[in-house]
Amino acid sequence: MSDGNEVIVIGGGPAGLMAAGQAALSGARVILLEKMPQPARKLLISGKGRCNLTNACSLDEFLGHFGPARNFLKPAFHTFFVVDLLSFLSNLGIETVTERGNRIFPASGKAGEVVTALLNWVKACGVKIYPNQRVIRLVCENNEIKGIEVQDLSRTPPRKVIYSASAVILATGGASYPGTGSTGDGYRLAQEVGHTIIPVRPALTPLVVAGEVAARLQGLSLKNVRAEIWSNNKKVAQEFGEMLFTHFGLSGPIILSLSKFAVDALNQKQSVMVKLDLKPALDDATLDQRLIREFDAHSKMQLRKILKNLLPQRLIPICLEQTSIDPLKIGSQITANERKAIRQWLKNFSFQITGYRPFIEAIITAGGINLSEVNRQNMASKIVRGLYFAGEVLDIDADTGGFNLQAAFSTGYLAGKSVARVIGR
Ligand SMILES: Cc1cc2nc3c(=O)[nH]c(=O)nc-3n(C[C@H](O)[C@H](O)[C@H](O)COP(=O)(O)OP(=O)(O)OC[C@H]3O[C@@H](n4cnc5c(N)ncnc54)[C@H](O)[C@@H]3O)c2cc1C
Repeated sequence: MSDGNEVIVIGGGPAGLMAAGQAALSGARVILLEKMPQPARKLLISGKGRCNLTNACSLDEFLGHFGPARNFLKPAFHTFFVVDLLSFLSNLGIETVTERGNRIFPASGKAGEVVTALLNWVKACGVKIYPNQRVIRLVCENNEIKGIEVQDLSRTPPRKVIYSASAVILATGGASYPGTGSTGDGYRLAQEVGHTIIPVRPALTPLVVAGEVAARLQGLSLKNVRAEIWSNNKKVAQEFGEMLFTHFGLSGPIILSLSKFAVDALNQKQSVMVKLDLKPALDDATLDQRLIREFDAHSKMQLRKILKNLLPQRLIPICLEQTSIDPLKIGSQITANERKAIRQWLKNFSFQITGYRPFIEAIITAGGINLSEVNRQNMASKIVRGLYFAGEVLDIDADTGGFNLQAAFSTGYLAGKSVARVIGR
């Protein structure tokens, strides 16, 4: 690795690769340092190996998935958004398909195809990629970046080396799925040079519940249900869609999306419940009519059998236990009060949330580099001249659906182009 580099990019995820390639395309001499033996390990497992690249919804809806970070991201999305990403990928030979929920995937269904194409493109742009290089310090003088200190992990024992640079792009990702290399190093690196870090916590993470009901339902997936998060007896958020029971609690798309509300409420020592509405399309009166019809039509059939018309088989014993209705009663014997109990259960199947799964299982990290310390027009640090940020290391996190990868690509693009402009290319 030579010294006197113009631009050093730290981290070979989607944000770092895009930033490095764009800076090099604009004429800068760029090296990319990756601490793992291979870059883009997380990208490779994204979307269960299928890589949900982005989302075809409108810009306004897209921004809505980022909560308070929406304004910060506007310039990055205005510079490089969904159509730009798709045309960029198409030029690399990657065609895409749009699926349910406007989610866009590579047509091949293979994240590996995206990783290979990106790496080939970055190299073709002239970027030199050095794996097994863990950056351990940003070298600054008078609030200006001068270089970085690296631990060369390819040597035994690892050797420490300092490299100079005119600009550094920090794209070290978050702290989730640390086995992919994203262990939160970037937070410490930025903090040491004066940045503040919004406390990091797991997001898009499964929730742990009290009791044994979820474990009994392990593996059962429910579609078209509504999940609500209640914190200290107040509803704070809701989602409609698909969820899954696991041996420890609740998971699946809508639970992951809601998890940030539960995590924050639990961290504030609040009492947190998830309430499932198993019949969200029916209001109380319509649901009652439906029950009356079922019980009239099956007046001689036992309740435990009638419920098969209303519920997945595995939920029936839970429903009967929690409503305390005799499963052997026949349709004509079900009273109005018992119908009411069934209705209430169907609309409020509730779980006390006792915790959440740790970073090792979280899809994304909430918190990170304080956005108020970053210039959203060019991703530059407002504290250290020559330092730029891209991707999940920033305090941005979104729902599932391709939003997080688009944010990594868009901020990476903007950081790469801005760096090249600033160093005069
Ligand atoms: C299982 C899973 C599935 C996902 N699926 C999707 C999906 O389908 N769609 C979607 O939009 N999002 C998805 N995400 C989220 C998405 O993958 C991330 O938001 C995205 O990868 C962030 O990109 P990044 O470049 O900022 O960071 P990362 O991809 O985390 O890359 C950071 C890189 O920096 C390197 N690094 C860290 N510290 C150092 C250091 N000190 N020195 C040198 N290198 C360092 C790491 O090794 C890593 O390679 C998924 C996440 C997970 C965990």
